[in-house]
Amino acid sequence: MPTAIEIFKYLPKKNCGECKHPTCLAFAMALANNKAKVEDCPYISEEGKRALAASSAPPIRLVKVGSGRHAFEIGDETELYRHEKKFFHPTRYCVILNDDIADQELEERTLAVNRTKFERVGQIMAADMVAVRHVSGDAQRFARAVSVVAESTDLPLLLMSKDVPALEAAAGQISAKLPLLNAADKDNWALMATLAKRLKCPLVVREDRGLNELADLVAQVKGAGVDDIVLDFGASTLKELMERSTMVRKVSVKRTFRGLGYPVLVLALGPQAMLMATLATMKYGSIVALEELRPEQALPLFVLRQNIYTDPQVPIQVKPDLYPVNNPGEGAPVLFTTNFSLTYFTVLADIEKSKVPVWLQVVDTEGLSVLTAFAAGKLSAEHVQKALEKSGAKSRSKAGTLIIPGMVARLAPKLGEVTGMKVLVGPKESSGLPKFLKGL
Ligand code: SF4
Repeated sequence: MPTAIEIFKYLPKKNCGECKHPTCLAFAMALANNKAKVEDCPYISEEGKRALAASSAPPIRLVKVGSGRHAFEIGDETELYRHEKKFFHPTRYCVILNDDIADQELEERTLAVNRTKFERVGQIMAADMVAVRHVSGDAQRFARAVSVVAESTDLPLLLMSKDVPALEAAAGQISAKLPLLNAADKDNWALMATLAKRLKCPLVVREDRGLNELADLVAQVKGAGVDDIVLDFGASTLKELMERSTMVRKVSVKRTFRGLGYPVLVLALGPQAMLMATLATMKYGSIVALEELRPEQALPLFVLRQNIYTDPQVPIQVKPDLYPVNNPGEGAPVLFTTNFSLTYFTVLADIEKSKVPVWLQVVDTEGLSVLTAFAAGKLSAEHVQKALEKSGAKSRSKAGTLIIPGMVARLAPKLGEVTGMKVLVGPKESSGLPKFLKGL
């Protein structure tokens, strides 16, 4: 959104108050803070409305891919560096399957993509997309392969063919799934643009000669009426990927050039595929397509994505409550930890490993870890007592024993006083819990 002064230039300066603001400048300030709408002023010229709409458009267009529960959005990013605010739309991983694979194997490999998922700190991390690549040279075979894959997955599809009639036949049969069409290039862009417009599908625009040439091609495709564009700048080396991706993001979010303000597809192919995928995850790739994504490759990529796309100002949290672990009864002790997700899941895994029944009390520390919460005054004996009361811990555990993290051993005397429980100081590190619990 432009500043109030920039907006003010486009206002009629009548100061009539019909927008429910006393002056045009006050209205401009309200607009800049998203507290008013352009339509609230009946006197802005059409030219002014167009200029305001253009200058308030996001620097990188939001593009929706697919339909149904697995549809996702990419783009609409505003930052060059994550710590400045956060990145909004995580990188999506796509597995490429060639259309010359036999139907049964194609189905099995699609099902394997569906199964590529893990749970970490309470979040499901999964593969997002399947691509069908036209390598057979046979339009009918491509259409058949697309239909086999579409029947085997609810994930969005990327359809890869330079042959426009073949792409048209394949995409036409599944157009309701809003596949991403790949790709318009300097030779076929007019036909591709017509197809994307007719099917209302997003379109990849590919140009590997350089960003100037890509910008020219994007302008032609946009001029042909396609708005939902995804860029492929054809990087074939890590250096090219780094340079082109950074340049596209930089000129877009700094608004020095608007013509490349679109999400980016990176084809991570060849012997450096995993390095390309890793770099693309860190440097602004919206979709990364790979020829294989085995579980041992997927997990580190997913964890990297999770780390980069977590809001740095908001720790991942779990709900503060009392959780049974290893089927505890009334005789099981209570152990507390904080609601910082990483701490909770680490402690949970270590208690499960011990096989000792425990009631796990999660205390609300606004997502801070044990020592940080203690230092910030968000974890005290009173906080723990309040959490125990709220969850009814003492009525579910009659053992009267409270195990506390070794890091906050100094809370023990006060906790004994306010809770009336026997306080045991646990290990400093969660990894010591199995041995500690077995020794009780
Ligand atoms: Fe200014 Fe328009 Fe508001 Fe009147 S209605 S004060 S012209 S912004």
